[in-house]
Amino acid sequence: MSAVAPCPSLDAFLAEIRAEFPRFRVVPKRGDALQRAIDIALRVVTLGGQREYLTRYHTVLGDTLYVPAAWDATPDVDRVITLHHERVHLRQRRRLGTLGLTLVYLLPILPLGLAWGRARIEWEAYAETLRATARYKGLAAARDATLREHLVRQFCSAAYGWMWPFPAQVRRWIDDTLDALAREA
Ligand SMILES: [Zn+2]
Repeated sequence: MSAVAPCPSLDAFLAEIRAEFPRFRVVPKRGDALQRAIDIALRVVTLGGQREYLTRYHTVLGDTLYVPAAWDATPDVDRVITLHHERVHLRQRRRLGTLGLTLVYLLPILPLGLAWGRARIEWEAYAETLRATARYKGLAAARDATLREHLVRQFCSAAYGWMWPFPAQVRRWIDDTLDALAREA
């Protein structure tokens, strides 16, 4: 990777995704009955640990990206970085199939805690979050301590059901990715 690249506009990047996934669409979570049901289920299974599913998280299901209320007010560059992450999930579904992705995501090893399959799937997407951040905002932004701890929390907290509660290992994954990005710079 050379220097910081100009970020495409949101519409340009959406068009790029639709060229690959023609049925891709972006839908607000709030008005969607299934998303509200998932929100309630997550609050129950995480004993209230995940209460931000509707307000802070982006979720891709099938060809649809469900977005929180803050989506419209989020700067384009941050939305494009999020879309990079979600495009990884679209490609994973193409690679594994809907059933395969669902099984890997939800089952092994346990539905909550030590969910190795989910951790690998999310890590592949969060590595892309780091790559896109470095690309559009620079390596220093990708190395930002707040982003780093945000990523660690995604793996080690109730956010994704404690999918890989080993912060030292998650920090190593982040370091390895940042080192690779620095080598490419
Ligand atoms: Zn993800």
